[in-house]
Amino acid sequence: MSEVKDIVIVGSGPAGYTAAIYAARAGSRPIVYEGSVTAGGALMNTTEVENFPGFTDGIMGPDLMDAMRKQAKRFGAELITDDVVEMDLAGEIKVLKDGSGKTIQAKVVILAMGSAYKEIGLENEKRLSGHGVSWCATCDGFFFRDQVVAVVGGGDSAMEEANFLTKFASKVLLIHRRDTLKASKIMAERAQANPKIEFIWNTEVIDVLGEQKVSGLKLRNTADGSESEIAVTGLFVAIGHDPRSELVQGKVELDAERYVTVGGHSTRTSVEGVFACGDLVDHTYRQAITAAGTGCQAALDAERFLNHK
Ligand code: NAP
Repeated sequence: MSEVKDIVIVGSGPAGYTAAIYAARAGSRPIVYEGSVTAGGALMNTTEVENFPGFTDGIMGPDLMDAMRKQAKRFGAELITDDVVEMDLAGEIKVLKDGSGKTIQAKVVILAMGSAYKEIGLENEKRLSGHGVSWCATCDGFFFRDQVVAVVGGGDSAMEEANFLTKFASKVLLIHRRDTLKASKIMAERAQANPKIEFIWNTEVIDVLGEQKVSGLKLRNTADGSESEIAVTGLFVAIGHDPRSELVQGKVELDAERYVTVGGHSTRTSVEGVFACGDLVDHTYRQAITAAGTGCQAALDAERFLNHK
């Protein structure tokens, strides 16, 4: 077995990298598992981040993550571009196995795996994923130049996706299951002022149509139950996120919605020596800045734990 590290951080969004910056700066030389394909987390699929303090004119999501990554590295964090596939968290020494089969031991594990896109849950949504169904306008919007596409959702993500898609699409149909939006006022107003966005209220998508690629959607009106079909070539699903807690299910306490629970005003999980931060624990705020804030807390909690052992 390898030497026992002080701190291993699993995840590389704003929470993971901020935890790494603090832990590395305190001299812990943390290991960060960034993920094999998802390094940087959800912000890698975002366009401009306008509300991260300190950037007067905004900053592109991937640029912000790159800066955090370099900052963590500068202080001596060891970044590993791989996934953790197994964790044994029960003992005093935690044992993690990564995608290459390597095993690593640590006194502290900081969980910062973030969240994953929610699916509507339709069979044809899955089948046509990558063939017109997408969860990322910044990744796939380009393919829908001069076409009519739909976005599902009523939150900030849906507004952001819809606005972004108007750069390419001829028309964006924003389908929401209620008649009021959950999105923040500024994002909602921006979408409602965009002449290329048409809102379809009180409506849910009940099927995705098309053989090889998306050709349309089957809709149901949530007010009167009537059904209809519309022709679109793309469907962008933006209905929120689920915590990525599968790896620690049954190992640390999760709540009913599978978020990792933390004790009081801290990042302590139900298992000693295991801390959690970012979207993995946060039902409510889920902002880049709040994730970074709890990443900082996790590193401070971890340092305190190591100093009092
Ligand atoms: P969200 O705020 O949870 O909104 C999800 C939306 O999807 C809601 O309108 C919800 O409908 C709808 N929905 C959920 N499940 C559905 C289903 N099965 N079928 C149809 N519709 C469904 O999620 P989000 O928009 O991803 O935002 C998450 C967090 O990130 C928020 O705190 C948001 O402020 C933040 N965010 C911020 C920015 C920004 O500031 N630039 C950008 C993106 C996200 P109901 O309204 O009926 O519940």
